[in-house]
Amino acid sequence: MSGLDRIANVTGEVGERDAAAATVRAGVVLSEMLRTTLGPTGRDKMLVGDGTVVLTNDGASIVDRMEIESPAARIVADVARAQSGEVGDGATSAIVLAGALLDEASSLLDDGFHPTTVVDGYRTAAARAGTVLDDVAWTPDPDDGSTRRNVVATSITGRWDEARTAFLSDLAVRAFDAVRGSSGRRLSNVTIHGVAGGGTTDSELLDGLVVDTDASSTSLSEVAAPVPQRVDDARVAVVDDELTIQSPDAVSRYSFEDVGDLERAQAFETGEYRRYVEALSAHDVDVLFCQKSVDDRLRTMLAREGVLVFERTRQDEVHKLERATGARPVMRLDALDTASVGRADAVERVTLGDGAFVIVRESTSSQVSVLLRGGTDHVVDETERIVVDAVGLLDEFDARPRLVAGGGAVEVALATDVRRYGRRIGDREAVAVEAFADALETIPVSLARNAGLDPIDSLLELRRRHADDETRIGVDGEAGGIADVSDRGVVEPARLKRRVVANATDAAALLLRIDGIIETGPSEDGSGGHDHDHDHDGPHAGGEFETDPHGYPWAIGH
Ligand code: ADP
Ligand code: MG
Repeated sequence: MSGLDRIANVTGEVGERDAAAATVRAGVVLSEMLRTTLGPTGRDKMLVGDGTVVLTNDGASIVDRMEIESPAARIVADVARAQSGEVGDGATSAIVLAGALLDEASSLLDDGFHPTTVVDGYRTAAARAGTVLDDVAWTPDPDDGSTRRNVVATSITGRWDEARTAFLSDLAVRAFDAVRGSSGRRLSNVTIHGVAGGGTTDSELLDGLVVDTDASSTSLSEVAAPVPQRVDDARVAVVDDELTIQSPDAVSRYSFEDVGDLERAQAFETGEYRRYVEALSAHDVDVLFCQKSVDDRLRTMLAREGVLVFERTRQDEVHKLERATGARPVMRLDALDTASVGRADAVERVTLGDGAFVIVRESTSSQVSVLLRGGTDHVVDETERIVVDAVGLLDEFDARPRLVAGGGAVEVALATDVRRYGRRIGDREAVAVEAFADALETIPVSLARNAGLDPIDSLLELRRRHADDETRIGVDGEAGGIADVSDRGVVEPARLKRRVVANATDAAALLLRIDGIIETGPSEDGSGGHDHDHDHDGPHAGGEFETDPHGYPWAIGH
């Protein structure tokens, strides 16, 4: 078929309907696939790639790893990425809801509704849902740590087995609580590293900083002299510059034409270096981090003095070292004074997995590090993803501490109101508003089905209780029944649900507006015009706290 034929085909009356139907169908299929993974009792998907098998029930992970051919399904998958990027959770819900909205829309289109009417109705309904969300949300006591644990537990339930989930929730909450009081971009005070080897429960939260010397440029200087493995009660200096000869002018005065000149130059150098060494020993410094390089000879001299030297420390790590040890970076060693020297309970070099690490431990540190362990790279990656998302979610929740009941409760509350609201609107749009309410109920229905409950009975009971304004009645996934789930700690940040509704509505609206697919052939870079293989740049892209660049080469923050 020629390009022209193709265009003719998709712009004609029949072609339009076909394209729209195919687009909608693709979104629905993706969403149906993920429905069974929703919630604490959701089942895993086995993702089989070339030579790798991954078991997960995390929607974001699944769509990230899937080879998605259909452009429409890719748009829906992108919603999941956006969702987990914004709030670190809710990707499956967003896809399931988007698919349900498309499914409802497809019946309406079959009945002769114009896509614009459907989209307008959906927008009206989503706006209404936003208002209801404010009404049913509540503000918990900010100092009640158990709220944070519940928020995290609800968010990560089902992503892993129960024991590991509980362990990781606790770790994430402790990491966040440790930096909660700090000002500014507090997530930069949390460093997260994943290292393959050991079990998940070997993971630890430590006060101080963990530097991966392979991933970071920070490295231990190679020297002939033996260097200590561990320095206890360390005095730490940080130099924000290179440690080489500071006055090249003095050296260049020598012509080096005779041996005497060379010797004089060396003597000069040695003298300069002696001053550096003395500056350090005057303040009893035993660990030195240098932002740039350290001259060979100086390294050896320092090693002989028993000083542990790390060079090429990254700028962000310099800031973290400041927070961890209280050291104030100096530009030159001559500028070192008592106030600029920091301290640490211990600085040690350790080998973990295949990597070499420097661990700076200090109980008064305002920098904390999470060191995640796990049997394989895959386990560690998945664990890292969970903890990163959880800490991001907590930060977000702390900024907007409004809660809603999970387990589908909030969706039923929204649906109940939106349906009533739709009935009050007199025009055709009302039908789409009510369809939106039906789509929202897909969430509790899926949760009920996954928990082994009868989906229809469950929905009827949920509707009945919500009709009496019991807005926190939902599916209790663990006990397997319909109950006030907020009593059981199944609570979620209101903003998370707000984003789920908004993202799903956007995706559905986007796809419903498509009335033709025009194949343009492969794009120049051969990627088909869509970078679906990109790194996990979602969560918190743009900056606040960094994780180990192995698994997640992005900086995250809000
Ligand atoms: P998502 O990617 O959307 O976060 P999940 O698989 O994590 O998907 O499922 C989230 C849903 O599971 C939310 O609706 C949440 O309220 C619900 N949920 C979490 N824990 C429970 C629980 N113990 N009982 C019932 N529902 C729960
Ligand atoms: Mg979740």
